[in-house]
Amino acid sequence: SDDDERGEEYLFKIVIIGDSAVGKSNLLTRYARNEFNPNSKATIGVEFQTQSMLIDGKEVKAQIWDTAGQERFRAVTSAYYRGAVGALVVYDITRSSTFENVGRWLDELNTHSDTTVAKMLIGNKCDLESIRAVSVEEGKSLAESEGLFFMETSALDSTNVKTAFEMVIREIYSNIS
Ligand code: GDP
Ligand code: MG
Repeated sequence: SDDDERGEEYLFKIVIIGDSAVGKSNLLTRYARNEFNPNSKATIGVEFQTQSMLIDGKEVKAQIWDTAGQERFRAVTSAYYRGAVGALVVYDITRSSTFENVGRWLDELNTHSDTTVAKMLIGNKCDLESIRAVSVEEGKSLAESEGLFFMETSALDSTNVKTAFEMVIREIYSNIS
């Protein structure tokens, strides 16, 4: 019946983590609102945004959380991670230090969440090929060794942004169904 169909609803909490200025907030606004903000300071400090997609004819809502800048103070709280079933761990392909810090973010994620969390490593700003500092191969091999999905994205020109979020959402869905 219609009632039964309405009853089949999914809400997945997904967190975005990674160093400051790697493009976390812009990945979220690109996915949820198709917007890009060239001035990071103007990023609105909302806690999360939701975006829906259909899987097997069912509405699946992703509630995607943004750090709103706390990562600068290394104080992303356990509340941020609580209940998360998916995570995007983001670095900036033009800054090696952000790639080197991925391990720290994964440690923090693993401390605060259980092992079934669907994880994806994201090398963002792939539009900046001319000043690339981390190769695609380096990203791929880290992802392989940590058992993560991997994708390079650009929140600026939209490359792979929708694909990356939807891949995580589909993985979460397949983990529970
Ligand atoms: P956050 O601190 O991780 O949330 O990063 P922001 O989303 O605030 O982005 C930091 C800066 O990088 C801003 O100036 C953005 O405009 C810029 N930025 C974010 N994503 C991209 C991207 O894919 N390509 C380029 N060229 N710049 C980006
Ligand atoms: Mg931000």
